[in-house]
Amino acid sequence: MDVKECALTVIDRLKNEYPLADCTLDFDEAWKLLVSVRLAAQCTDARVNVVVQDLYAKYPDVNALAEASPEEIEAIVHPCGLGKSKARDISACMRRLRDEFGGQVPDDFDTLLSLPGVGRKSANLIMGDVFGKPAIVTDTHCIRLCNRIGLVHDVKEPKKVEMALWKIIPPEEGNDLCHRFVLHGREVCTARTRSPYCERCCLADICEKNGIDSEKEKL
Ligand code: SF4
Repeated sequence: MDVKECALTVIDRLKNEYPLADCTLDFDEAWKLLVSVRLAAQCTDARVNVVVQDLYAKYPDVNALAEASPEEIEAIVHPCGLGKSKARDISACMRRLRDEFGGQVPDDFDTLLSLPGVGRKSANLIMGDVFGKPAIVTDTHCIRLCNRIGLVHDVKEPKKVEMALWKIIPPEEGNDLCHRFVLHGREVCTARTRSPYCERCCLADICEKNGIDSEKEKL
């Protein structure tokens, strides 16, 4: 099995295992996902989903949040950690949305990247989950699983993993696959337990870490 065949098998198996591939951050408007993904750095999605309820109760739209000072935002978002820098980025980002984009989130990857606090991971998440466009979100689960399975080999830098995946998966599958990596990474191919639960993994017969000899070409 070469690496592309392996990737297609992973896509199929994880689809079967996790039919729903929703984003685990709650949002009903694009700008809210921008806020949540910034707060999610080094914080759990579950905590972010709780904290933003207070934020949106006080600042219900882009204009209201753009009017708030970074200190006022920090007072609410500090339970997510890194409150000062996150609040500063959120404030600057909302002000740019208000001043340059009519309060809308732009649907262009490079423009998203230019927004304060928005990196490739966040820009891909917005492109995929908000605009339904091809996207690959290389978070910690995606990087760990791709290396363990053998879709990449000793590649830890997010952008390099993203670029490697673009070469081997159908673009339209990327967004859902990455959501499923998160689900599988939390439930089975865990980082926090001493070892992953390979004995009950749907990828056990194709995974390099599980000792399966690979003929996959190194990327
Ligand atoms: S077989 Fe083990 S290491 Fe490989 S993906 Fe499954 S849980 Fe992770």
